[in-house]
Amino acid sequence: MSSKEELYKVLVESVPYGTLFFAYGVCIDANKHALDLLGCNLKQLVGASVDSITGDESTALVDLKLQLKKALRDRTEKLDWLCPGHTDTVTISIVYVSDDNRELVVMLHTRELAGEVASPSISEPGLSVASAEPVEAIEVAPPDVVLPTGEIYDGAGVIVDGVDDGKPWEQSARDHYYDSLTGLPNRQLLIQSISRYLARQGNQPICGALMIVDLDHFKDINDSWGNAVGDQVIKKIGQALSRLDTGGNVLARMSGDEFVLFIPHLSDDLSKAAWSAQSLAEKLGEMVASPLFLDGHEVILTASVGIALISDSSISAERVLQFADTAMYEAKRKGRNSIAFFDPCITEKAQRQIGMNTRLRKAMDNHEFVLYIQPQISVETGQLLGGEALLRWMNSDKITNMPSEFIPVLESSGLIVDVGRWVIRTSCEYIRNFIDQGIWQDHMRLGINISPRQFRDPQLLDIVQHSMNSYNIDPSFLNFEVTENLVIEDVDEAIRKMEAIKSLGSMFSIDDFGIGYSSMIYLKRLPFDQLKIDREFIRNIHRDPESRGIVEAIMAVSKQYGLKVTAEGVETPEALEILRELGCHSYQGAHFSMPISCDRFTKLLAA
Ligand code: C2E
Ligand code: MG
Ligand code: MG
Repeated sequence: MSSKEELYKVLVESVPYGTLFFAYGVCIDANKHALDLLGCNLKQLVGASVDSITGDESTALVDLKLQLKKALRDRTEKLDWLCPGHTDTVTISIVYVSDDNRELVVMLHTRELAGEVASPSISEPGLSVASAEPVEAIEVAPPDVVLPTGEIYDGAGVIVDGVDDGKPWEQSARDHYYDSLTGLPNRQLLIQSISRYLARQGNQPICGALMIVDLDHFKDINDSWGNAVGDQVIKKIGQALSRLDTGGNVLARMSGDEFVLFIPHLSDDLSKAAWSAQSLAEKLGEMVASPLFLDGHEVILTASVGIALISDSSISAERVLQFADTAMYEAKRKGRNSIAFFDPCITEKAQRQIGMNTRLRKAMDNHEFVLYIQPQISVETGQLLGGEALLRWMNSDKITNMPSEFIPVLESSGLIVDVGRWVIRTSCEYIRNFIDQGIWQDHMRLGINISPRQFRDPQLLDIVQHSMNSYNIDPSFLNFEVTENLVIEDVDEAIRKMEAIKSLGSMFSIDDFGIGYSSMIYLKRLPFDQLKIDREFIRNIHRDPESRGIVEAIMAVSKQYGLKVTAEGVETPEALEILRELGCHSYQGAHFSMPISCDRFTKLLAA
């Protein structure tokens, strides 16, 4: 530790108030007073984000974040706070280091710490937002819906058919047509209403839309709080969305966490219709994102919205739904929390992928895959630390295909499992050759990327073990790189698997790391050894203070978690210099070398 850093530590620890530092929305450091007051340890606090709440945070911390969020909105500098679990009022002072609320110093003063006589105790923590709004079970009455078809659905679930048909009929339809949890029309009723509407339009031009709203990572809610809470969330969201259920629109619950809004008429003009569909979808997104309180925790959900515009009444209701569904997956693919329109090009793309899939199936047998290696270098000494194995596909036209083109196809077809096994085996084979040539050193490691699907392969541990044994490779020579989206399914299972592989002696890196809610959750829960900063933040680090700030925050957080940091995509000496100043351990990138063939890497090792 430099003496400057020591001085800073002494100073921060000796002040008679709790201090927390925030950068880019996450806490990067705090003193002991703050930890005592908030009832947590440094690991729990560092990486905590102001904007979102994980399941394992203390009530005091959650409540503090809510206070901060409000304060930041109004740029409040001082406020009184009744910290849950404490009787003494805490004064929160906020120092805005930067103009954009990104860098903050938050100080928590109590009279106790300041050595004053404690104020009389206050027993009602009236300010505690977190406990003020528990999940309530609000009964939702099924809304009266006047469908565009002319049918009226009343609260009791009775369908009274429209007048046009001339012969009204009644049917107790609650069980058949309504979702019991939300009271909203179900899929069957929705399809019926769309079909009837389309049938009625005959050849008249129409400009409507169908939107599928799918909650992002909803499974996490069920996993963290149980299905009963999950149901309440669905119910609440259903209520919120039903505000859009007006003027002939129909809101339905399709299944699990999926809602559908059918808007029979948006405009007379298709491009105007697209605009209003977009703004309506944004409104839907905002409604989903209004905070919910679960067990004293504020939770903000996001949704992916897929939109299919309807301009032709000869289309079937099922087909429209299919289009909206394709668009919704496109929205998910864009990184969730987004909106996508159905685009026939997506279908075309899907068809192209099917073609590629056929060729990829043969690629393994035809030995068309090649492993390149990108060298990794010590920032401090410039020493070669090993490299990262990166897949290339030389197809029959002798064109080198890059992973971004074909890995998603391998992943979605499941072929990645076989190809990934080949990557692991070949990596071990390479290392064996390097050792035999006497050019591999004990401190070196080879990074191997493991995709989410491959990680879920039940045989992964066996494959790793078998490959290392057959080439007689020390497990510590391998470093498995995984991205955060790998564990969304089952965190505990992912931890078990990582631990099993780590117990052999290999290490794990979190790849493409960025600062944000989900990254932080995975960092806190999963046993990583190293963090790889995404190329996105490194690219402009020397000219963009924002990128630099993010990298600084990542460095501070990783220090707390005892992680080594490596930077990806270092292209210039200026970027490297900044990484050196920030204490980054290693790097890879065009500045030293782009990925190279095994032959060239061998020469590099031998040099
Ligand atoms: P990644 O694991 O983040 O790998 C780093 C990527 O950044 C590589 O792209 C590398 O060529 C690129 N890169 C590194 N330094 C620079 C630089 O200075 N400038 C630029 N422009 N690019 C740089 P690549 O090889 O195209 O791989 C892309 C992604 O494909 C990898 O990202 C990884 O997620 C995946 N991938 C590659 N090989 C495999 C594999 O064997 N198995 C699996 N499952 N995924 C792989
Ligand atoms: Mg990687
Ligand atoms: Mg990466």
